[in-house]
Order: sequence, then C-alpha cells, then structure tokens
Amino acid sequence: MKIFGIIDLSTIDYPKKCSAVVFMSDCNMECGYCHNYEPMKKNTYDMDPYEIYKKIDLTFADAIVISGGEPTMQPNSLKEFCKIIKKEENLPIKLDTNGSNVDIIRELIEDNLIDYLAIDVKCAFEKYSDIAHYDGNNIRNNVKELIKLCKSSNIFIECRTTYIPDKMDENDIIEIVKTVKDCDLYALQQFDREHSWKREYKLLREPTMEELIKLGGIAKKYINNVFIRSKEGVVHL
Ligand code: SF4
Repeated sequence: MKIFGIIDLSTIDYPKKCSAVVFMSDCNMECGYCHNYEPMKKNTYDMDPYEIYKKIDLTFADAIVISGGEPTMQPNSLKEFCKIIKKEENLPIKLDTNGSNVDIIRELIEDNLIDYLAIDVKCAFEKYSDIAHYDGNNIRNNVKELIKLCKSSNIFIECRTTYIPDKMDENDIIEIVKTVKDCDLYALQQFDREHSWKREYKLLREPTMEELIKLGGIAKKYINNVFIRSKEGVVHL
C-alpha cells in the first residue's frame, strides 16, 4: 500500500470526531490547486496495510480518515486496510474521494467497510478538463450514483467544492448543488493559492469570506446543511 503520510490525530478531517488520517498515493486527476500533489510525488513509501495500521498511534483517535491522492487507485490495499481497521479496532472510517471509481466504493459499502464518504466535486462538469485534467462527462453520473448508494446504505455523504473565483462563478455552484442536492452536507472551501502546486494557481485570487457566504446562501436553497471552510475557520450556515 503506497502512502505519503499519516497524521495520528486530527480534529478537522472527520466532523465531530478525532481521527487518524492516512494519505494514500496516486491520483488520476491533476488539480492545479492540489496541496498534496508534490508531497505525493516526493514522499511516497510502500508498506503492507497491516504495518501501516501498526504504525498509527490510535491512543486518542476515535475514527480513521483515508485520504489521498485518490485512495481508490489502490483498490486491493484500500479494501484490506479498511478490513484490518474494522477487525482490529472497529472504528468508523471516512473515505475521501474524487468520485471517479464508483464500483470500488460500491464494494466497500456492500462489505460495510466505510461509514462516511466525502466527494470532491471540483467544478461545473464541463470545466473538469481545465481544472482537474480529467474528463468530467462521467463524474456527474458517478456523483449522483454515489449519493444514491450512500443514502440507501445509511452512509453519511458529504460533497464539497474548493471555490476558485478566477475559474468559477455562481453558475458553477448552482450546477453542482443541483446535482448533489440529496447529500447530507455540502461544504464550500476557500481556494488556497499559497499551497497550490501549479504556478498558474499561485497567481489566482482567493475568494473572500463574504463571497463564500453569498455562494453558501445560494447552496442553502437546495441543501439544508451547508458549511463554509476557510482559513478563518468553519461556519455552518
Ligand atoms: S483529485 Fe485530489 S489528490 Fe488528486 S490532484 Fe485533485 S486535489 Fe489532488
């Protein structure tokens, strides 16, 4: 299982829980604002999933977050790691994904291996090729399918979008929230240019809190539970 980092204790990655976070390597997208793109390329190491489990200090964690990269790029390792966590610790597991691999997530859900799914919905679907270097045509259907799967399996489903004002506008947010309206939580995240790996993104404008709150208000017309995540903190609208 290729990973590029472990955090033993985080209070921000699994809502209302203290979690340990494992960052799995590899990704099939190439988002210009990705914070993890360079650490993933430079710091990846390969270990047996059980060794990784033993390496995590779970003294204070009451949940596990599997992030990345895109964890579904390593389906066998991902599944094995979830099984180990469930068998050894029986902790809730949150999976962060870009929504590109529905079949793998379906298997995890059918095997009762995840409790929380968080999908990054990057932008309006026709903009995926620009922002994520990925064909967005299937992503819209994948996202809808994943929300349906989670709702029918009692898995908490979060969707979130990192808002980049120079690349998006409120029409993107309207298109996204109409697509994800049945999710349990929608979060608008503040684009952070400093930690973007692509030079072009380091020069783009970050949205203000006022802009995010205005967009959050638009999202609220479709979804009850809307959060803003910014450098200043988290706001529940
Ligand atoms: S999908 Fe996530 S991990 Fe992959 S490049 Fe985009 S932001 Fe980074």
